[in-house]
Amino acid sequence: MPGLEDLYREIILDHHRNPRNRGELAPPASHAVGHNPLCGDEIDVYLDVTDGIITDVKVGGQGCSISQSSASMMSQAVKGKPVDEVRALVRRFKGMMSIPDEDGNPIEPDPAVKLGDLEALQGVVKFPVRIKCATLAWNTLLEALEQG
Ligand code: ZN
Repeated sequence: MPGLEDLYREIILDHHRNPRNRGELAPPASHAVGHNPLCGDEIDVYLDVTDGIITDVKVGGQGCSISQSSASMMSQAVKGKPVDEVRALVRRFKGMMSIPDEDGNPIEPDPAVKLGDLEALQGVVKFPVRIKCATLAWNTLLEALEQG
């Protein structure tokens, strides 16, 4: 499919230039900080969860374009969504990144879970060292959910 990689690159660059949901939320919002020492990426995730719905999300931090774009896309993808749906999305995203489940088995893609713009990050899987950049925001999101 000619042009698809260009499209993906554009989506990633757009999120990098114009990060969505950038900022902080005041307590009692959940807050988690993630680090990727391999690349020097840092991500802050703030969550407001009410009645099992992520009513608001903000992200902060700094790092490479993959880590920051992924954080921006993550924030857009989870805002307003039920926590159960978000957990399924995290699983789907990790599967796309070739990350095994808790038991070390490959994660089969669930066709019911739509990735949308997140598909733009699928090329990252070809660069194993960048996978940690792409998944940092998602692991930090899970940590923030644990606190809620
Ligand atoms: Zn990085």
